[in-house]
Amino acid sequence: MRQVASVLHLDLDAFFAAVEQRDKPSLRGKPVVVGGVGGRGVVSTASYEARTYGVRSAMSTREARSRCPHAAFLTGRFHAYHATSRAVMAALREVSPLVEPLSLDEAFVDLAAADLPDLEVETVRAVGERLRARVHEVTGGLTASVGIGTSKFIAKVASDLDKPDGLVVVPPGGEQQLLRPMHVTIIPGVGPATAERLRRAGIHTVADLESVTLDELVRLLGRAHGGGLHALARARDDRAVEPERETKSVSVEGTYDTDLTDPRLLAGLLTRQAGQVAERLRKHGLSGRTVTIKVRLHDFTTLNRSATLGSPTDHAPTIGRVARTLLAELDTSDGVRLLGVGVSGLADWVQEDLFGTEEDDEDPEPEVEVPSSRRSAWAPGMDVVHADLGRGWVWGSGRGVVTVRFETAETPAGPVRSFDVTDPDLAAWLPDEEVNDG
Ligand SMILES: [Mg+2]
Repeated sequence: MRQVASVLHLDLDAFFAAVEQRDKPSLRGKPVVVGGVGGRGVVSTASYEARTYGVRSAMSTREARSRCPHAAFLTGRFHAYHATSRAVMAALREVSPLVEPLSLDEAFVDLAAADLPDLEVETVRAVGERLRARVHEVTGGLTASVGIGTSKFIAKVASDLDKPDGLVVVPPGGEQQLLRPMHVTIIPGVGPATAERLRRAGIHTVADLESVTLDELVRLLGRAHGGGLHALARARDDRAVEPERETKSVSVEGTYDTDLTDPRLLAGLLTRQAGQVAERLRKHGLSGRTVTIKVRLHDFTTLNRSATLGSPTDHAPTIGRVARTLLAELDTSDGVRLLGVGVSGLADWVQEDLFGTEEDDEDPEPEVEVPSSRRSAWAPGMDVVHADLGRGWVWGSGRGVVTVRFETAETPAGPVRSFDVTDPDLAAWLPDEEVNDG
């Protein structure tokens, strides 16, 4: 724990739902639920308007529909979330070079590395307010909650205290007073199993935990966990803010506006992505040992599978072969909406290729054509473009009709029109396939 409150945690409020409300003016101020919209879907994010009806993340969409039937239920648009996240992270790096993203909508910033005259409470509070205003600006109106404290633990607890659109600074010395009345699950690493074990020992709050000796905690939870908890109960946390190191992996991924089910198509896409990854590796003189695939299923579950090779490679057929083998082990029969391939464990040299030479390259790059959504599902919320009416989003579809609301972040709430699902003037709109380093 530091002597000054120099760790900042920023968390965007109801991120996916807020991006949808930004881009869909007619939904501003209304309940919005982003997640799997199908029968077995799960809520990913609910807007604050939907939360007042008891809709929560990780709840089944079925349950959410029964609690708030008039909410807009939308599938995710990850291209928009990624672009918004990149703008936020860039704004944080304007403040300090030490930024550690935790997810698309959350990051730690080390203010000790920022160029500030001092780290007094009033100074860091002003930085927090400026940052919130800057995030609002670069995201086109999203709000963020900020917590500032003497450690990562305290900063993260603080950002949650005045959500949404809040700022809380915990002054140095105020940590234990803040934590004592809180339930033990506030402590990172205390999940349901640990909480249950503590409960049976009569330990409910952080204050309860603080009164337990180190020996007792170690007896109860084992040496590593017990020791860690003993320290965190006293707000002792010295974890450093670790910025993203230079590219740790090279990856390519694509999001699709229909659920892809054809195994040959999926294998073909992986093969093409493996080729793009290999090209990028070679361009940077890199190679890697670990091949990872990322698969997001129709219900929003995201799976990562990886395999590590005996030696680094930058060989497209090898990467493709490993990726296809990993995919074959997954059940993708209900559809895939995001697919990606990455190589990590990078070395800046290529060992003699042990997997064959360029000449024995298997099949040439396959022809892969992603089915256009025109012939299949128009997912609610997805971006579309009409030849005459321009950009809009799918409001709903069924019985051969798709209904579109024509509006974007830059327009007022727009008109609704219906089309035959096979109308040639209407097409899905997606930015170019995403290519990510890292
Ligand atoms: Mg958030």
